[in-house]
Amino acid sequence: MKRIKPISIGIGAVVGAFFLYKLLTVDKISKYYTIYDVENSDNADQYGIENKLDTLSRLRAQRLALTVLDPISDYLNSRLFISSWFRSPLLNRIVGSKDKSDHTKANAVDIEHFINGVQRNDLIIEAIIRKNINFDQLILEKGSINNPNWIHISTRGPGQNRNQVLYFDGAEYKTLSYKQFLNLLNE
Ligand SMILES: [Zn+2]
Repeated sequence: MKRIKPISIGIGAVVGAFFLYKLLTVDKISKYYTIYDVENSDNADQYGIENKLDTLSRLRAQRLALTVLDPISDYLNSRLFISSWFRSPLLNRIVGSKDKSDHTKANAVDIEHFINGVQRNDLIIEAIIRKNINFDQLILEKGSINNPNWIHISTRGPGQNRNQVLYFDGAEYKTLSYKQFLNLLNE
């Protein structure tokens, strides 16, 4: 019988562990989110459009995940439902968004939260306030102001965030002062 040298087993174990590690972590960009969450798009699938991140957008997506989505998810003790994150320029046009949209840089994401199938986007607002999350722009999209249909949130990085809050009622955008935003917790 051929004897396997212990050193070969050692190398085999290291290589195996490495590939297992890669398999489990290669797409992970934060505690809760993966590259799949960023690139996945029903519209891209439907229209057969490639929606792949470039290196810079990948870093921006990671910044958004680490500084905004993870703290919200920690507060809710749950992953968020992501309806749209990164959009390539072509995909962005197809969904009818402006060319300058933060989605095209992976700086913005549209999020929702459900508990037992019931939409609870009010809890996302609560998480953002309680965790004192710094953001560039927050849009409460349709529905009611304290439980909108979905929430658009973006970041530009430290020192560049405006903490701007808007409510879109389906027809026009209304600006909320940050104080009005904080008051949503008491409504
Ligand atoms: Zn959006």
